[in-house]
Order: sequence, then structure tokens, then C-alpha cells
Amino acid sequence: MIIEYVGQSIRQVIADMRERRYEKEGIGSSYLFRVDQDTIIDATKCGNLARFINHSCNPNCYAKIVTVEAQKKIVIYSRQSVNVNEEITYDYKFPIEDEKIPCLCAAENCRGTLN
Ligand SMILES: [Zn+2]
Repeated sequence: MIIEYVGQSIRQVIADMRERRYEKEGIGSSYLFRVDQDTIIDATKCGNLARFINHSCNPNCYAKIVTVEAQKKIVIYSRQSVNVNEEITYDYKFPIEDEKIPCLCAAENCRGTLN
């Protein structure tokens, strides 16, 4: 285990409202992390270091939803040994959308887009 992705647990309706507000404010919505069909963790305004972990198409870590005392949490685990000063990355697994977000991970197997 590397770190828990900490933030506010919110429902879809609130996430949609916040996404629109963040886009309008130029913040973007990259700190909204989906847990399940109607739960999203929002680390935009309160979160921890996990929100700064970048995406990679060839990551050394992965995100997993675990249930602790009936509460779903996002935890980042390593897939392999991670060296000192090696960047920690995981696959964001964004849903496919028409409006593509370019991927800049530079991995050999880069998909070219995050979604
Ligand atoms: Zn990539």
C-alpha cells in the first residue's frame, strides 16, 4: 500500500455541479475520482498527496476500491518494487468520451489519450 486517495465523499448530483463550477473557474475536474456508480471522491479543495499522482499507460501502481467499516475508500498500491526517486503513477482508467484528453505519459505503449 502506498497511500489512500483522500477527499470529500460526494454523490453524483453534487459531483456534476462541482465539475461545472470547477470548469468555469478554470480549476478543471481532474481531482474527482469515481468510487462507484453514485459515489465520487473530490480531492479538489481538500485532499492529500495522492491527488498529485500522475496517470501512466504503463504505471507502477494501481488504484483499488477497498471497504473499511462499510465505507468505500480508494487506495493506491504498487504493482512492483518502486525505486527511490521513481515517479509513482497509475492508470486513471477514465471512461471513453468524445472529447479526448491527450496523454503525455511517454510510455512505449501510450494510448495517446486518457479517455
Ligand atoms: Zn499514455
